[in-house]
Amino acid sequence: MPELPEVEIIVRGLRGPLVGRTFTGVTVRWPNSVKTPVPELQATLPGQTIEQITRRAKYLWFHLSGGDSLFLHLKMSGDLLVLPVTEPDDPHVRTIFDLDNDHQLRFKDTRKFGRVYLVRNPNAVIGRLGPEPLADDFLPADFAALFARRRGRLKPLLLNQKFIAGIGNIYADESCFAAGLDPRRTADTLSADDLGRLYHAIRQALTAGIVHKGASLDSVYRGGEFQNHFRVYGRTGQPCLRCGAEIQRVVLGGRSTHFCSTCQR
Ligand SMILES: [Zn+2]
Repeated sequence: MPELPEVEIIVRGLRGPLVGRTFTGVTVRWPNSVKTPVPELQATLPGQTIEQITRRAKYLWFHLSGGDSLFLHLKMSGDLLVLPVTEPDDPHVRTIFDLDNDHQLRFKDTRKFGRVYLVRNPNAVIGRLGPEPLADDFLPADFAALFARRRGRLKPLLLNQKFIAGIGNIYADESCFAAGLDPRRTADTLSADDLGRLYHAIRQALTAGIVHKGASLDSVYRGGEFQNHFRVYGRTGQPCLRCGAEIQRVVLGGRSTHFCSTCQR
């Protein structure tokens, strides 16, 4: 699943071909993925121009000239393709957005967990998300304040999008390693010093992910090379790059978690 860095790279790549284009139609082949009534989507979207594309957490946010917001969430296997209308179709394309230049934005999604929303008020989709970890005004004190009165385990908290936005399994594991924190720790045991290290570790891991154009772990997300820089994620049984001990794997909150039990306390 793409996390914050991967979605950020996708957004940056779509601005060139899409900002300034106007939607002329939309075809929905898998209605379950569209969280706006399809007749409403088809009546409201055409004629609106894409003024900007940004990211909030793992959502792509299309700011439209009519004042509406189109949100796309890629979930497990979503992929966005901008192609000429003459390009051959693909059976895994679930939604087709027609553009005013004989191209289409095709939302391909093998596993069908991806989502499409067209809303007037963006908060209907993104209103309950936690803070953006890379925002300029997100300070160490803001991060520490999130942990007040929390008792859950560290790793599931970092994955909770209402707690903090955009972090998934890869960047949570890499951040805990860089901060020297056992992902099984409970929030109420973390000291101010622990939280300070974790704040910087998260921002450094996400920034490194963006610099390396994201992690490419399957055929869906292409072109990134952050997978060559993982220090714990997916390295079960291999030696820790810091101390040489074997990297451990446990399941925490239903998710594979990789860590060094010597370096992470
Ligand atoms: Zn180690």
